[in-house]
Amino acid sequence: SLSEVDRAKIARPPAENEDTLFGKIARKEIPANIVYEDDKVLAFRDISPAAPTHILLIPKVRDSLTRLNQIQEKHKDILGHMMWAAAEIARNEKLEEGWRLVINDGPLACQSIYHLHFHIIGGRQLGWPPG
Ligand code: ADP
Repeated sequence: SLSEVDRAKIARPPAENEDTLFGKIARKEIPANIVYEDDKVLAFRDISPAAPTHILLIPKVRDSLTRLNQIQEKHKDILGHMMWAAAEIARNEKLEEGWRLVINDGPLACQSIYHLHFHIIGGRQLGWPPG
């Protein structure tokens, strides 16, 4: 099977109207293990966890939020809300001893799904620097 790096090399940013897997999860068209939801964001467990806690947090409406590199001033409110939601989720998961918020932005960072998402990772000692 392909490595994260190999999959990221094949991936490329979708067209503005092109759907992604996370769009389908946001609209509940395919199932996910949801841990937090409100009117703006959805959080669910990563299907291939990198740590005991590995949760993905997405804006429900992608709009033009494909990757961090593409954010605009109009996105400041949703991005602030996502930071708050990430901390709330980490508190719910009892990660107060340490956790990490990761955004893989673009091919060299192994982003494979072009619907902005935060990785909430914790529950074990994490290494540094990341690969
Ligand atoms: P990468 O795939 O290299 O980790 P991303 O930062 O784009 O790059 O992360 C996408 C994440 O989505 C991966 O951690 C992957 O395990 C996860 N994922 C893929 N499909 C699903 C799914 N159906 N449900 C939950 N998580 C998924």
